[in-house]
Amino acid sequence: MQIFDHTNELHDALGEERLAKRSVGFVPTMGALHKGHLSLVKKAVAENDTVVVSIFVNPTQFDNQQDFDKYPEDFERDITLLKTASDNIIVFAPKKAEIYNGEITSKTFEFKGLEKVMEGAFRNGHFNGVATIVELLLNAVKANRAYFGEKDFQQLQIIRALVAQKEMPVEIIGCPIEREPNGLARSSRNERLSKTTRTKAGFIYEVLNTAKKKFGMESAGYIKDWVSENFAQQQLFKLEYFEIADVKTLTPITKKQKNKKYRAFIAVYAEEVRLIDNIALN
Ligand code: AMP
Repeated sequence: MQIFDHTNELHDALGEERLAKRSVGFVPTMGALHKGHLSLVKKAVAENDTVVVSIFVNPTQFDNQQDFDKYPEDFERDITLLKTASDNIIVFAPKKAEIYNGEITSKTFEFKGLEKVMEGAFRNGHFNGVATIVELLLNAVKANRAYFGEKDFQQLQIIRALVAQKEMPVEIIGCPIEREPNGLARSSRNERLSKTTRTKAGFIYEVLNTAKKKFGMESAGYIKDWVSENFAQQQLFKLEYFEIADVKTLTPITKKQKNKKYRAFIAVYAEEVRLIDNIALN
């Protein structure tokens, strides 16, 4: 395990890999690692000669200061967990000022509306922050392949659009959602839930699964209403949005069309912790 916090150290180590024509896989993370992150790392280890995992809590993608302040961090634990995937990982944990070249602000991006809906509509500036840091990190690592989770499906599609727009020579690989035994999508933020709420939060995945079952028979509009009514009866969970959207354009729909692929997307508050999830419908 090599741990670097300076970009030039990373470049020296990766320069040797590239000279030896060894492939580089990259997994960007914000730390507080769990089995979801580990599934990306294991896939990267299986598919590449060398793997870089970045750990960086990116300030510019938080629209809520309290969420940023409370974001869990445990670097030693992260390293221990990464060692279970491989001893041969390069960890890149840059300082804010260095990765941002002194100016810690987002650039402004446009991705044909992908950035405007759902997370983009509810988290002001979030995707500008994500695209800014991912572009900086992809340029620093220059990997052959970069791995992102479908847990953040909208982010994954935006990163694909970013890489196409900037003509970056990296393959973006989407990885399936890892879940806790009750179905709750694994997330660093789950650590902030009480034990009872964390157990009961399997409800979110149950709703997504039922929506999927209904999707063959009912209209998207009907399913949206059904989900809203279900959450209205819940004390513990507050629905922020539930949408059914085309996987390519991410445009929310009320009417299905044939030969298109759809996913359901949800954002929920539980004990002031914001949880997101999604599921393929067809
Ligand atoms: P984060 O540290 O939350 O920024 O996540 C880093 C990467 O791990 C992103 O590509 C996420 O989509 C992915 N990820 C987070 N949680 C999960 C999960 N439960 N299953 C699969 N991938 C995940």
